[in-house]
Amino acid sequence: MGKKALINIDYTYDFVADAGALTCGKPGQEIENEMVRLTEEFIQNGDYTIFAIDMHHEGDEFHPETKLYPPHNIKGTSGRELFGRLEQVYQDNRDKENVYYIDKTRYSAFAGTDLEIKLRERGIIELHLIGVCTDICVLHTAVDAYNKGFQIVIHEKAVASFNQAGHDWALGHFKGSMNATIL
Ligand code: ZN
Repeated sequence: MGKKALINIDYTYDFVADAGALTCGKPGQEIENEMVRLTEEFIQNGDYTIFAIDMHHEGDEFHPETKLYPPHNIKGTSGRELFGRLEQVYQDNRDKENVYYIDKTRYSAFAGTDLEIKLRERGIIELHLIGVCTDICVLHTAVDAYNKGFQIVIHEKAVASFNQAGHDWALGHFKGSMNATIL
């Protein structure tokens, strides 16, 4: 058992596929191989591997994103399935002790979930973040992780955004303001 964990963020059909409801498009699709490689590596090494995946209810009048974005990652739809080969990697490993799937409803994987207690009870201090979007859900998860005292590792080839300027800014912010390691 290592002291590190991988947090897979929002790599779903709606956020990555060309026809996804809120897609990153090509930059998102280009990280598929690295997403799969890192996920398999962490699972096979016995390191804690979390899938923190956005979940919404269509037309939720109490949710702030309803006014900001088209409906996306709606519960029970194929838009919420993991994109490309990552879905099969998850299906093949979902019953393993070190694999954990979280439905999240906000940008940060910590908001309203049991992520923190799952990490604390395992003594994990180093969080490796991958997925989309670099400057939204990855960023907000990193901010919470930083404020809670976790060490942050960002895998540059396994994060992406529809917004290249936002992506670049976020990478600089992880390194310059959160002392994150960028690999
Ligand atoms: Zn959302």
